[in-house]
Amino acid sequence: MADKRIFLSLAHMSGHEQRFIQEAFDTNWVVPLGPNVNGFEKDLEGFLGENKRVVALSAGTAAIHLGLLQLGLDAGDEVICQSFTFAASVNPVVYCGATPVFVDSEEDSWNMNPELLETAIKDRIAKTGKKPKAIVPVHLYGMPARMDAILDIAARFEIPVMEDAAEALGSEYRGRKCGTFGDFGALSFNGNKMITTSGGGALICKDDETAARTLFYATQARENRPYYFHEKIGYNYRLSNISAGIGRGQMFVLREHIARRREICKLYTEAFAETPGITVKKNPGKDFDSNFWLSCILVDPEKFGKTADEIRLKLEAANIESRLLWRPMHMQPIYAKNAFYGSGVAEKTFGCGLCLPSGPALTNDDIATVVKEILR
Ligand SMILES: *Cc1c(COP(=O)(O)O)cnc(C)c1O
Repeated sequence: MADKRIFLSLAHMSGHEQRFIQEAFDTNWVVPLGPNVNGFEKDLEGFLGENKRVVALSAGTAAIHLGLLQLGLDAGDEVICQSFTFAASVNPVVYCGATPVFVDSEEDSWNMNPELLETAIKDRIAKTGKKPKAIVPVHLYGMPARMDAILDIAARFEIPVMEDAAEALGSEYRGRKCGTFGDFGALSFNGNKMITTSGGGALICKDDETAARTLFYATQARENRPYYFHEKIGYNYRLSNISAGIGRGQMFVLREHIARRREICKLYTEAFAETPGITVKKNPGKDFDSNFWLSCILVDPEKFGKTADEIRLKLEAANIESRLLWRPMHMQPIYAKNAFYGSGVAEKTFGCGLCLPSGPALTNDDIATVVKEILR
């Protein structure tokens, strides 16, 4: 048994965070705007490139909500979502009064299957007489979705794309950063994501105009008048200047974190190379460059002798945290009645996958301990 608990994905500080927070206190910017918010947005824009504008928000979920809102969702509209994801990718569709329609994943990337996406779009048009209002692909566990095929279909049917890159900060598809492909892209800075602001997110926007509109909705939709005047429903979604200070500090270690998580995945891959029944999730081809936010394994119980959940329980007994994969949305009671275009991939993958400890502060000894416990 490990003396200290080995966690799935702990936040890891650069040491610069406190300086930005102190500065905020010293200058009395203890509010949801200010120099840290602006600085953090600039840092992210610099990191992402592609001439994008970034608006820092209180959560990744809020980012997806404001992105969808600006794509003009109305009550009765449908939005095509990846089933194999975390509920936060999908719930904002319902916040807008629209209905998610689910599409299965491809076997190699675990993300939205472009063929099923096209099938779903055609079938929804045939059944409802109208086009889905948006497409929400996800880069699950940091693995890029097959964006060229998805964007090609989106363009052909003229349907906008809200890209969920909450887990994929630093991942690249064909040399371009995830989150910069869609009409909007969402990032998350929750405690266990690539970087943390203790809680926060950002919406990646394509130009100044959409960034300004995002800011407008995130700050109660206040019109430009000397008194409070409202023509639209607004939200209180701006990131606090204190949280943004943590984010600025985290930018110092973002590249290191990405490199370390990739290294950890490589260590697991080497360690299990000869183990029958255990496959470490890998980039499906040269177009894909995952940040490996979480290293995942697929377990074949016939060949390995134990199921993924049995491994999870054994690890837990050894004080090591691991986690089953996201349970697909079409298998959730709340979404069980929604339309689903499937081929069995998400269900099958969910049933045999496990996320292993992947945080950037893990030592090579920690990884060796995890491997040893699994092989035992
Ligand atoms: C974390 C996450 C979100 C939501 O981000 P929050 O900052 O926690 O609101 C959305 N989608 C996916 C895939 C996530 O993992």
